[in-house]
Amino acid sequence: MARTAVKITEEEKNRQKDFIREIRELPQRPQTYHVVTYGCQMNAHDSEKIAGMLEEMGMKEAAVREEADFVIFNTCCVRDNAERRALGNVTWLKEVRKTHPNLMIAVCGCMIQEPGMAEKILKQYRFIDLAFGTANLHRFPELMYSALNSDRNVVQVADEDVIAEGLPVRRQRTDAAYLTIMYGCDNFCSFCIVPYVRGRERSREPEDILREAEELQKTGVKEIMLLGQNVNSYGKSLSCPMSFAGLLRRLEQLGIPRIRFMTSHPKDLSDELIETMSGSSHILPQFHLPVQSGNDEILQKMNRHYTREKYLERVHKLREAVPGIGLSTDIIVGFPGETEAQFEDTLSLVEEVRYDGAFTFIYSPRVGTRAAAMDHQVPDEVAGERIKRLISLQEELQKETLRRFIGMKEEVLVEGLSRRSEEAVSGKGRHAVSVTLPGNLGDVGQIVSCRITGVRNNTLIAERIGDEE
Ligand code: SF4
Repeated sequence: MARTAVKITEEEKNRQKDFIREIRELPQRPQTYHVVTYGCQMNAHDSEKIAGMLEEMGMKEAAVREEADFVIFNTCCVRDNAERRALGNVTWLKEVRKTHPNLMIAVCGCMIQEPGMAEKILKQYRFIDLAFGTANLHRFPELMYSALNSDRNVVQVADEDVIAEGLPVRRQRTDAAYLTIMYGCDNFCSFCIVPYVRGRERSREPEDILREAEELQKTGVKEIMLLGQNVNSYGKSLSCPMSFAGLLRRLEQLGIPRIRFMTSHPKDLSDELIETMSGSSHILPQFHLPVQSGNDEILQKMNRHYTREKYLERVHKLREAVPGIGLSTDIIVGFPGETEAQFEDTLSLVEEVRYDGAFTFIYSPRVGTRAAAMDHQVPDEVAGERIKRLISLQEELQKETLRRFIGMKEEVLVEGLSRRSEEAVSGKGRHAVSVTLPGNLGDVGQIVSCRITGVRNNTLIAERIGDEE
């Protein structure tokens, strides 16, 4: 069951601020920092909070990790390769310390919350100065202070399902911002470690979310991305429950031009949300709806609580209510016991839905999850061959699917110069598809009107038009 969230107290917030002040005054504190981020948008936003706290401690960001006095790895453990990469990079930094003896190394994030990881860090990675889990992020100043005043490594992995309001944030972008609306997850999909490392589902109070959105709007932010592991079940844990659609309607009234959200669970995608999207000019016509598999038996083993039919019904309803909606998904291949016929059900679902984008993964067993203990793990070579077929099908279909945008007017929030040309810029359109159009650095952070003229790989090509067109 979702729990009513406990906010950290004002007293605790002030205690952490005191540690920040103490660190600023320490003569031996690092002067520069670098944050290395792995994983999802939630982690990227946590890194912005870490950077915010480090700046308040008086440190400046170093462009590359080799030049920093303090390097922190914000890790992900959702897939095995992210975990291995993080540990590999941490070990590599040990070599850097030979020429930079005062270098401080910290590791935080989901990986640290994994059962047994803290003990492993203490034993095998003694050169790490500081390690803490996602639940302890708000205590970072206190832990940093301890690490700076100790010869031993400081490790904290307390299970604190709290909500920390008001942490300093150093945002990566000024035109678009992440806004977390809830933490944790109660779904326990059998392949997923998130509920074990990010805790149970807890929602922020709508007033706190609205206040943050208003502050962002005042700074000129044009787009907010609402974040949560399953935003569709937002509000169930509040003392006065509110639906996600209800929250969206309140946010919409602020008038921020673009509102997006991530991630949704198909079982919680309500008619109310679809109706809210259909009548809105601020909520962007895009939806990331992870399907994971096209086969009912596999979906049941994944503990997903929907069938292929139910999923397709939701897709149909979304498309009916929001014509032309941009649709993307996540798919896992090689789930334990997946037969060739069951995999082909996934291929046929992809053919039927025709996504604008798909994140495809080979199943990666995570210790402690139910799927890791299931019989008939699919051999690597079989899973490898299946994912190639899936990617090839998706690429072929995507080229066709994206052609529906040709001739359409689109508005693009420009993110930067195109990688191919200094006379072109790129960014995301309202449908979440990348668009490249003529432009220059002056367009970055602006919403530019354009007309789609073509498709190149996964990107739309466009020409500029006036706003009045
Ligand atoms: S909904 Fe499922 S896949 Fe998503 S975070 Fe929760 S347990 Fe993991």
